[in-house]
Amino acid sequence: MILFVKITIQELSKKGKAHKWEKHQCDKCQRNMWGHGYVMRYFAEASDAIYVKRYRCPDCSTVVTTRPETHWKGIRSAILTMYEVLRSKLTGFWPPGFPRQRGLHWLLRFIDLAKMEQQDNLLSFLSFCFAKQIRFFT
Ligand SMILES: [Zn+2]
Repeated sequence: MILFVKITIQELSKKGKAHKWEKHQCDKCQRNMWGHGYVMRYFAEASDAIYVKRYRCPDCSTVVTTRPETHWKGIRSAILTMYEVLRSKLTGFWPPGFPRQRGLHWLLRFIDLAKMEQQDNLLSFLSFCFAKQIRFFT
């Protein structure tokens, strides 16, 4: 499971393992979880891998891995970056210098979601998803 935390990539990158992680309770048992080491994760905003904290519940053995709330599970780029890139393309052009191949990958997945949701106005659907913090591609 993933535990989204309010922290920036820059902060995590700077502090590394020295970051003071808050205690976390197990969602199932409401017990304080124990530290369960660190795992390395890559994010688009940092050239090196970043350590993120893991927790383990002493009762049910559930393991959760922290992740900055600015990044969806399984995606290295920040949600804001993806939103701005897609918004730029939907209103005109890819942002200068941004890899078009990656942008196109996001765009096609976004269009798939829009079709599934029967949304014709892509720009307003994108803005709606972003405002409501809904994942805007599948
Ligand atoms: Zn538990």
